Amino acid sequence: MGIATVDPTTGQTLETFDALSDAELQDRVARASRAFASYRLTSFAQRAEWMRAAADLLDADVDRVARLMTTEMGKTLKAAKAEVGKCAAGCRYYAEHAEALLADEPVDAGAVKAVRAYARYAPLGVVLAVMPWNFPMWQAMRFAAPALMAGNVGLLKHASNVPQTALYMEELFRRAGFPADVFQTLLVGSDKVEALLRDDRVAAATLTGSTPAGRAIAATAGDVLKKTVLELGGSDPFVVMPSADLAKAAEVAVTARVQNNGQSCIAAKRFLVHADVAEEWTRLFVERMSALVVGNPQDEQTDVGPVATENGLTDLEDLVRDAVGKGATVLCGGTRLDRPGWFYLPTVLADVSEEMEIWTEEAFGPVAVVRTFADLDEAVRLANDTQFGLGSNFWTDDKAEQDRFIRDAEAGMVTINGMTTSYPELPFGGVKNSGYGRELAAHGIREFCNVKSVWMGRGNKSRTE
Ligand code: NAP
Repeated sequence: MGIATVDPTTGQTLETFDALSDAELQDRVARASRAFASYRLTSFAQRAEWMRAAADLLDADVDRVARLMTTEMGKTLKAAKAEVGKCAAGCRYYAEHAEALLADEPVDAGAVKAVRAYARYAPLGVVLAVMPWNFPMWQAMRFAAPALMAGNVGLLKHASNVPQTALYMEELFRRAGFPADVFQTLLVGSDKVEALLRDDRVAAATLTGSTPAGRAIAATAGDVLKKTVLELGGSDPFVVMPSADLAKAAEVAVTARVQNNGQSCIAAKRFLVHADVAEEWTRLFVERMSALVVGNPQDEQTDVGPVATENGLTDLEDLVRDAVGKGATVLCGGTRLDRPGWFYLPTVLADVSEEMEIWTEEAFGPVAVVRTFADLDEAVRLANDTQFGLGSNFWTDDKAEQDRFIRDAEAGMVTINGMTTSYPELPFGGVKNSGYGRELAAHGIREFCNVKSVWMGRGNKSRTE
């Protein structure tokens, strides 16, 4: 598929875009490189002023941008509006905190025989961001806000199905006052990413996307020795122990599974329930999943809109077909909707086992699998029985069980009695096939910095160090 806006609610292609030619792409990279030469010298106060202006513009543009996202990838309008608000909050967070997060870090001068020594965070240069369509604003913003506040310049290669949202990002930073070419959107396919990463003027790259895309970028980055951050897929566990508030756990489980129409890396995808409470909890969960309103995402009352792409829908159908063929039981849903567009009914599968693809792969849509376990050891084993290690959710009122999950979860994020979500204040990222590096918080803004060690001796001739 080329670069196009295709409405998943109808399946209609609304607008197509020409990819940049190779010459245009070269020109964009040259402009980014030139922009960095002066932008890196701007003050934190100046960058913060522009970043706050971007946040204000997001607030003002919320209706327009939310509708754009809903049209391009099908998230509900209320979710889209919330995403725009989150982007504004992310801009304000880094506008306020970047200077302190990147302040020089003094080192005990005596220990290193210096007059003064410290670590300084200096910007790296042009950073390429390869981004996915599922949170088309937030994913790009949680790269852009820290990267720009640190003094880097950004090149955004967004997913090919959200070109208008991608172009809006460039427009936003320009209108906010950032100098020309500090943030550019490149309308190109994924076939251009390798050449971009190999270009000497590009210093580093960040990818949020699938594990295969992560492998491709990491292989190139390894060859040219460039820094990368990879935020990849997930198949997060959601574990329910007997001491949990079952009604609350069922309610949150539904949101954790179907948020963003089931297409979130940190959506809970595998629900593991203690045998003592499995019947009761599963009943509550299925009841709530069945009651969700599936329909046009532009309608305020809709809970679940379409899957973003036709391929996404057929992938989901294949996973469910494979599971049912191998003995899974459909407790609700299990089929696409008989209407135009790419709608799949909220689905719960029981009797799921390791040989089913839905256990080992990431289900990117409103499909949940439920398994029971007998004790804490089995809960930990099943929670970690995945190639991924992004988020993990545990419901228990028992302090010892909480400690055990926090200690043993093979995941970048552990949530107790809640669902994994992202906050500007908390580092975000994974282990195993979910990638490496961190976004957000202090960790995120420092990823694309050169940590310069500065050692200073005495300048006068009377003494040498
Ligand atoms: P995807 O196919 O990997 O696409 C993501 C981005 O990578 C797009 O811009 C895509 O460009 C590009 N791309 C694809 N293959 C590439 C390659 N071989 N080399 C370089 N770039 C490549 O992922 P998706 O299926 O659209 O997105 C969903 C995935 O993202 C899920 O696995 C989800 O879990 C993950 N995700 C992770 C996080 C996180 O923070 N960990 C957050 C959100 C989503 P084109 O569109 O032009 O193909």
